[in-house]
Amino acid sequence: MSNSSIVSIEWANFEGRRPRSAGCNARLGEHGVTVQVPLARITCADGSRGFGPCRTTPAAAQELIGRSAHDLLSHEAGRLPVLEDAARALEFPLWDLLGQQSGQPVYQLAAATRKHTVAEPLRVPCYDTSLYIDDLHLSSEQEAAQLIADEARQGLARNHTAFKIKVGRGARHMPIQEGTDRDIAVIHAVREAVGPDAAIMIDANNGYNLNLTKQVLAATADCHLFWLEEAFHEDAVLYGDLCEWMNNEDLYVLVADGEGLAAPTLLDWAEQGVIDVVQYDIFGYGLTNWLHTAAKLDALGIHTAPHHYGRHLGNYISGHLATAADQFLFVEWDEATTPGIAAPGYAIVDGHVMVPDSPGFGLALDAERFAHAVANGGFRVN
Ligand SMILES: [Mg+2]
Repeated sequence: MSNSSIVSIEWANFEGRRPRSAGCNARLGEHGVTVQVPLARITCADGSRGFGPCRTTPAAAQELIGRSAHDLLSHEAGRLPVLEDAARALEFPLWDLLGQQSGQPVYQLAAATRKHTVAEPLRVPCYDTSLYIDDLHLSSEQEAAQLIADEARQGLARNHTAFKIKVGRGARHMPIQEGTDRDIAVIHAVREAVGPDAAIMIDANNGYNLNLTKQVLAATADCHLFWLEEAFHEDAVLYGDLCEWMNNEDLYVLVADGEGLAAPTLLDWAEQGVIDVVQYDIFGYGLTNWLHTAAKLDALGIHTAPHHYGRHLGNYISGHLATAADQFLFVEWDEATTPGIAAPGYAIVDGHVMVPDSPGFGLALDAERFAHAVANGGFRVN
């Protein structure tokens, strides 16, 4: 591993676009068609470079000048990596840099931390996360359900075989019962559209309560939902009741939680068996933290499925964790393109992200566009 010191850090924001505007979730308004892709690029004295998603300040970046990547993010086979606190914001460019310096994809570096062997080419299951609450302008429940079913068909055309539907229309945007009935109609219409074998998840963004959750799960039992995400703010008592109820109803829907401002006791509750899938955000929580947590979750038999939304590059980066997490379920795929960033070798094939074996995260940055963005609203320290 190179010990070359960092000579410059450049930062800029790119903007990407979704193929279709994303509407509301249970608590927020329109998410829109654009995605923000803040990026940093690190350059070392030996000319090696790495880039990746990053939010930081010139002062924080300046502190890393003169240090080596390996010094900030220590990686060796058979040991979980250690990331210096001061380097946390630059974590993704650093992982990419370690990959570029060693000629290895990040997923191999991740696998090595646990001495896992990777079956190549790497293919990681993913789900289409784009089925938002896009139907609020429609007064007919049937038309609304068909609109979301059409969106699911668009996902099928992009080779997805797993779909997550935003629910919780009655939490804010519609009267409670009308919104809940519409959620149920949407779930049925999507199941009809995607066929019996596709995985369907629902995500209420904490817009249900326990009784509404039971109502929706009972009414969609024939849809065989795979997971229920953020039904209500995580609570061991309420989740315990829900698990008991599901057992009595012969319903087996996994309980997924942990994105955003997760309860600090979330992992304890997972250990108690009331949360089946942990979803810390790939960027907010970070890859290094995730490597530590995935090792714990594997030992407990709990699933890993990092949250990612609205920053495009999580589509590619999340899969690099999969080689170090035996219980990894899915990459969350928020379809988008960003001018200036190419992802050669990545593709969705039969519900899986194909991950290329090129060094780092395998992404390519357009140097001219990046230089322009650094000069216009970005910064450079050296
Ligand atoms: Mg969610």
